Amino acid sequence: MEYQLTFDDDPVLVRLRSAWDRAMMRLEPTMTSAQYSRFLAPLAPKRREDNVVFVGAPGQFLVSWIKKNFITRIQEALREELGEDIEVEIVLESNQRTMVSVQSIPVAPTVTDDKYSDRFTFENFVVGQSNRLAYAGAYSVAEEPGKKYNPLFIYGGSGLGKTHLLYAISNHLKKHHSDISVVYITAQQFVENFINALQHGRVDLFRRNLRSADIWLLDDVQFIVGKDKTQEELFHSFNQFQGAGKQIVFTSDCAPRDLYATDERLRSRFECGLVADIMPPDTETRTAIVLRKAEEEGVQLDHEICAYLAEQVPGNIRSLEGALTKLIARASLNEEKIDLELAEKIIQSDYPLFAPLKPNFDRIVEEVGSFFDVLRKDILGPSRKADIVHARHICVYFARKLTGDSWKRLGERFGNRDHTSMIHAYQKISELAAKDLETQTELRNLERKISPNS
Ligand code: ADP
Ligand code: MG
Repeated sequence: MEYQLTFDDDPVLVRLRSAWDRAMMRLEPTMTSAQYSRFLAPLAPKRREDNVVFVGAPGQFLVSWIKKNFITRIQEALREELGEDIEVEIVLESNQRTMVSVQSIPVAPTVTDDKYSDRFTFENFVVGQSNRLAYAGAYSVAEEPGKKYNPLFIYGGSGLGKTHLLYAISNHLKKHHSDISVVYITAQQFVENFINALQHGRVDLFRRNLRSADIWLLDDVQFIVGKDKTQEELFHSFNQFQGAGKQIVFTSDCAPRDLYATDERLRSRFECGLVADIMPPDTETRTAIVLRKAEEEGVQLDHEICAYLAEQVPGNIRSLEGALTKLIARASLNEEKIDLELAEKIIQSDYPLFAPLKPNFDRIVEEVGSFFDVLRKDILGPSRKADIVHARHICVYFARKLTGDSWKRLGERFGNRDHTSMIHAYQKISELAAKDLETQTELRNLERKISPNS
């Protein structure tokens, strides 16, 4: 893991970065804006060793192109700005996930105005054990922003309702406190807008726009991983909001501690309010969600059919909704009746891979057992031997994470154990994973075996 962040504590880097920004401003007018965005904007100075400045470029193509065509001009501009005789070395930056495109993106953060956003409310969010805490946190924030949980940090896998909750906060406030201004922005937009503002010397405007809001909802914050400058900006805006007692809500696809290559100070800020996870919902909740969505579409579905879809389409709610939409569309196109037979037909033709690969309890026990060379009957049995207990704990961890079964149900599956021992096992492995690199790797490898289709 490359750990590269030092905000404004490192004077050499700070100086380098501001010289870099000025050098870029010099070069910008010498080319078209499309060229600039494509070739220069994605570059960023990374570190300095003696008189060599290392500049990261996302992608091998860009590295070669700059080396061939542009390095001398960059070097000259940077030498003048630093007033030193440095050399520039272009290096591949591997952890930058995407190249940021900065054309035609406004400087101001976007406020929720998308026409679909009204659909996402607290009223149509189905609450179950897997999302109860996140729901309660979001609701409390919408009722009394800035009071209780600030920041609220919601994390969980894709399609489990994070964006839904952010929109619900925004809609609730629109309805009950129309005087409060809300900014919703995805972290990706934040990065793009910020870079754009930097490029055009409008960082002040960017800040003013953002900070004039009373509540700030930042979606998918994992996107800032490895983006030093944006993290620094986020850090300062965060402090400004919190200092003024204004509410902030973040969502992310993983817990704050798992946001690698993110400055430690920022990570600890994420954790200083309420951190709430959303797990995959259990079958009952999924069934209730299907029922609710069908009602929203004006279709009355039998409980049996809802339960069937909930069972058969694993993973996120988005794909479950997709299956339902398909079912409804097919029935209305062919003027067929929606019955179990039609549902089976659709699932079998459209989701043929899901069923056999769906991680179920047995599969988890089997894979974990063979990984640690422990028998199934021992995993589910009473033995207290350390290696067996460890394998058992790992099974509990995955069973909870991947099947979404309730603690009580899990206890029953593991030879009628008490539900608190399940919680304890789960926490133990989560804590271990947070501290220990080896456990992290072990869990990742195992998860790939258990659910190869994800
Ligand atoms: P995420 O942002 O976590 O990837 P979304 O909020 O976009 O997920 O949710 C994906 C879809 O699933 C949306 O249509 C949302 O309305 C729906 N959904 C997720 N969880 C629930 C829930 N508990 N009740 C109702 N709908 C849900
Ligand atoms: Mg989302």
